[in-house]
Amino acid sequence: MVGSAIRELKPNPDWIYLTSKDCDLSDYQKVKDCFHEYKPDIIIHLAANVGGLFKNAAHRLEMFNTNMIMNYNVLDNAYNAKIQRVICCLSTCIFPDGLNRVLTESDLHLGEPHSSNYGYAYAKRMMEVQCRLYNETPGFHYQCIIPTNIYGPRDNFHLENSHVIPGLIHKCYLRSLSLSSASTSNELVIMGTGLPRRQFIYSKDLAKIIVRLVEENIYEPLLICSCPESEETTIYQAAKWIAGQFGIEKVVASELKSQNTENDGQQVKTASPARLLSLFPDFQFTQLENGIQETVQWFKNNYPNVRM
Ligand code: GDP
Repeated sequence: MVGSAIRELKPNPDWIYLTSKDCDLSDYQKVKDCFHEYKPDIIIHLAANVGGLFKNAAHRLEMFNTNMIMNYNVLDNAYNAKIQRVICCLSTCIFPDGLNRVLTESDLHLGEPHSSNYGYAYAKRMMEVQCRLYNETPGFHYQCIIPTNIYGPRDNFHLENSHVIPGLIHKCYLRSLSLSSASTSNELVIMGTGLPRRQFIYSKDLAKIIVRLVEENIYEPLLICSCPESEETTIYQAAKWIAGQFGIEKVVASELKSQNTENDGQQVKTASPARLLSLFPDFQFTQLENGIQETVQWFKNNYPNVRM
């Protein structure tokens, strides 16, 4: 999703975009061969075994192992090939749970992550540690960006394993079909209470940030990529905007009934964009409602040939 968004910005034509079909990152030798073949001078490492709250919680061991292996293979091969610059992608969901303050970059290791996210979070945190250790070698600049909840075209729209925005887009689509055919199937299930708050970031915005880091040669070891705190949104509000794109906004109001916080995940994990905005004071974030509209349009244009 983010790699495609970078490609669509058409930065330097020399940039090469590889998918899992081009190189299996879980295989050390294949990664070595790949770097040998392409001889990159910078790597933007966006690959991960990633899912939303429910995938991360149900597969904690798998999330830990697969991400540890891929990240190790990428970073160690980059280091051995003397590639001096790597940009890695973490997530604000790996921060300590319950700090009860707006999160900043220096909070990353100050406590346990939320239990739902234990495996994924620690694997990602170890990548940050690994970067720091390689950076002890003069000339090496491995950095980590820390985006909030990313959404956009080419996301994974799986009904259970995806993040909330693509999951709800797919569910609302199916619900709108069943309403128009007067079928009672495909009840729109919005998980949790709808009260948790999230800062979402549009994949195109994150792509612009990454391109600027490279083109302006900015090295920040850790950089939170979040929209301003004032744009933090409840899951319920996001669900209403998504449903509105399918003309079923009223269904959300009547079908979101849960009073049970069990499926809420973290209630809040507000992350400060202060460092990001000090680098790019003019940065314009896409409003969530507009980003949802574009993503739904992409989904409608491409369904059923979407990742799910
Ligand atoms: P998170 O931001 O890391 O917690 O990950 P998600 O993108 O999976 O968002 C989870 C939040 O959205 C929780 O509060 C869920 O209860 C809520 N939610 C509501 N409906 C859905 C859904 O269909 N899929 C997902 N993944 N989350 C949902």
